[in-house]
Amino acid sequence: MHITVLGAGIIGISTAWHLLERGHTVTVIDRQADAALETSFANAAQISVSYCEPWANREAPLKALKWMFSKEAPLLFRPQLPFGEGWQQWRWGLQFLANCNDAAFERNVQQLVALGAYSHGALKDIVASTGIAYQRLERGIAHYYTDQKSFDTAGDAAALMRKHGVARQVVDRDTLFRIEPALRAFGERIVGGTFTPSDESGDARIFTQELAKRCVERGAEILYGHAVDRLEVVGGAIKSVAIRDLSTRADGQNGTSRKLATDQVVVAAGSYSAPLLRSVGVDLPIYPGKGYSATFKILKPELAPQVSLLDDTVKCAMSRLGDTLRIAGTIEVGNYDLTLDSAVARARCQMLARRVEQVFPGVCDTRNVDEGGNPAYWTGLRPATPTNIPYIGQTKVRGLWVNAGHGTLGWTHGAGSGKALAELMTGHEPALAFRFLGSPAPRAGTFPAPAAATA
Ligand SMILES: Cc1cc2nc3c(=O)[nH]c(=O)nc-3n(C[C@H](O)[C@H](O)[C@H](O)COP(=O)(O)OP(=O)(O)OC[C@H]3O[C@@H](n4cnc5c(N)ncnc54)[C@H](O)[C@@H]3O)c2cc1C
Repeated sequence: MHITVLGAGIIGISTAWHLLERGHTVTVIDRQADAALETSFANAAQISVSYCEPWANREAPLKALKWMFSKEAPLLFRPQLPFGEGWQQWRWGLQFLANCNDAAFERNVQQLVALGAYSHGALKDIVASTGIAYQRLERGIAHYYTDQKSFDTAGDAAALMRKHGVARQVVDRDTLFRIEPALRAFGERIVGGTFTPSDESGDARIFTQELAKRCVERGAEILYGHAVDRLEVVGGAIKSVAIRDLSTRADGQNGTSRKLATDQVVVAAGSYSAPLLRSVGVDLPIYPGKGYSATFKILKPELAPQVSLLDDTVKCAMSRLGDTLRIAGTIEVGNYDLTLDSAVARARCQMLARRVEQVFPGVCDTRNVDEGGNPAYWTGLRPATPTNIPYIGQTKVRGLWVNAGHGTLGWTHGAGSGKALAELMTGHEPALAFRFLGSPAPRAGTFPAPAAATA
């Protein structure tokens, strides 16, 4: 079967890989010049199976209201006019609110853990079979607190996660310092933390680009520099994809458009999946959640962390990637804007640099550019859903499938989402309890615990 995958981020490339493994003929289309040049480019690098709580929780509405006028707020809702694309934002916001209660939170956590555990296993399998190196560190994730009141709630959160098979331990400050000695520099301001030894970190961009090369070696065709303009549906079934070559021809004219006939299509276009799907009557609440990262050269390697970190106060994550430290965080539900040059964007980027200096003073070069003159700051649009749960499965259009909406966890869930969709497309039921799009409710009692996934 010839399957066309739209999007060469972590989700599209992982889907392509698993489809090839099952003997399909695969074409991937992406407008960029390489894989992982949009949201999968410079994320926080965490494979955080055990820290997968959705943003929608009982306290989120009040916090979001409080934060509305703070440029550095971890969650910033920037209301658009409620017409056209703006209406999508309002609808998304209302569905988000509907998930801000304990019952929905726990339901969502269950599915996120199940997909995370399955995905961790799939990632390890790919690494074992391909040998891809991507600055991987299997040192766990530590979450540190500077506020006693917030730390007091860490036990309840850990207990909920343990109920769903996640090994999250609450640790005191001294234990935390033994786990990650670099945190001693922040000293007494830390009141305690939690630790998940089975989590890990690594560079999603390197992994995705390397896996894309392996896909080509296995026979996939990847058309970089091609925009997807339209999906063509005839008689309720997908027939072709209208694509446009973005390269400029020798005569100065823009590249040509053509129709690519195909048996099946997977939409894995990140935040842009929603408008593409809506054009053929498939309406999914996927909306961009803008986030920022900064990647700083490490000046004192012996004082830089090896364990990936979560900072509870500013709600950001830090991961060591070779001789650099990546810090990333904050979510802005606004529109598709990718600017780094606005008052809000500048404030958020400066906050990241400031936090690195506070926690690890003098350890990194936190100036704006790296030695090669490349910008240290980056922004990307998380393809966010109101529940944090992605849409994986079949649409009402025959032959049209979706793998999108991975929000804050696309790197964590990437390998497994690709595998699960490839299984579904090959007529098999993936071995995890997850509500796939177009499928009945998840099978009961099949949530794999993270430990099982590592076997
Ligand atoms: C600041 C930040 C920190 C994050 N940290 C983490 C983390 O630590 N751990 C984690 O698990 N996740 C993290 N994430 C989330 C993760 O990065 C995303 O969920 C993931 O990258 C989404 O992958 P994707 O393949 O769906 O989208 P993308 O990587 O955006 O890929 C979609 C592709 O589709 C292509 N495309 C779109 N429209 C078209 C079109 N019309 N024509 C042609 N091509 C098109 C784009 O060029 C792009 O390459 C973070 C995200 C951000 C922003």
